[in-house]
Amino acid sequence: MKNWENNIRKVKPYIPGEQPKDKGIIKLNTNENPYPPADGVVKALKDYNSDNLRLYPDPSSEELVNALAERYSVKPSQIFVGVGSDDVISMAFMAFFNSSKPIIFPDITYSFYDVWAEVYNINYEVKPLDENFRINTDDYICDNGGIIFPNPNAPTGVYESLDKIEEIVKGNPDVIVMIDEAYIDFGGESCIPLLNKYDNLLVIQTFSKSRSLAGARIGFAIGNEKLIKYLNDVKFSVNSYTMNSLTQKIGVEAVKDENYFSETVNRIISTRENAKSKLKELGFVFPDSKSNFIFASHPNKSAREIFDELKKRKIFVRYWDKHRIDNYLRITIGTDKEMEKLFEALECILSK
Ligand SMILES: *Cc1c(COP(=O)(O)O)cnc(C)c1O
Repeated sequence: MKNWENNIRKVKPYIPGEQPKDKGIIKLNTNENPYPPADGVVKALKDYNSDNLRLYPDPSSEELVNALAERYSVKPSQIFVGVGSDDVISMAFMAFFNSSKPIIFPDITYSFYDVWAEVYNINYEVKPLDENFRINTDDYICDNGGIIFPNPNAPTGVYESLDKIEEIVKGNPDVIVMIDEAYIDFGGESCIPLLNKYDNLLVIQTFSKSRSLAGARIGFAIGNEKLIKYLNDVKFSVNSYTMNSLTQKIGVEAVKDENYFSETVNRIISTRENAKSKLKELGFVFPDSKSNFIFASHPNKSAREIFDELKKRKIFVRYWDKHRIDNYLRITIGTDKEMEKLFEALECILSK
């Protein structure tokens, strides 16, 4: 090691799912939406005046913040937007997790949380989910420096009731509880209404899954005005111009088209429910999912083997060689047609 390396912050980065370049693959590995963005988004892209690129974008993304405030019936001062929810959560870790006590999250969860904790030198402790991948509420009622978990959880798809969320938020009045609702639109009930009762709650959502805009990078947080002010102070201390003006515009269009949003979300839910019966018929077992993916395991064939066999057939799903989940595949819900191809491939793989 060179001397100059001594004082370098060394981190193990988050590993995103594969984005294979070749056409003709069926991509069920990163929970993207199989449907295109709303018409208004397409139009805004076409109509965009490139002269705008000469200027800095609105640093507070006011139009987008206002659109979101209206959609979620909160004040604009309760909304923070960022470049994907990864950006929002990362800022929130910086702003809210500064205790010497450990922050807590589940052992099986979004694998970015421990990466952010490491990069920001935040002490953390994981709490094991039970054998059905459920959160044990008592684990979260303890002395801690903050809490974060997704609801529904990733990569399990398991949804916890609002009562359970409320119990955890209520039981931790002295720290910030962040609920990562990346998948909430696929059948769960958002905890946004709890914001009226609790000032220590931050709800985070994204346009990447339910609004078909993973490539645009839009995420947001909703909380009380004070929390959002603290979050903006951190953002404006790191980079004022995070979201470019084109993205701000298409974000507004995506929020405005409520019909298209519910139509595509409902289509995905219906494909998911059908996938549950098909996978069951094929012998898979999985916890019930309220997300746009299913976390499935097969008693007769290892997940690793199925993963490899699917890949040979140009079908990509997600697999982690990690304790407790190394025999599971996370399968994103695609179109009905893509899912039919998946079932055909699985039938073939399992019969060998
Ligand atoms: C996809 C995902 C995110 C990040 O989404 P962005 O594309 O950065 O908005 C955050 N949390 C969970 C649990 C996710 O699955």
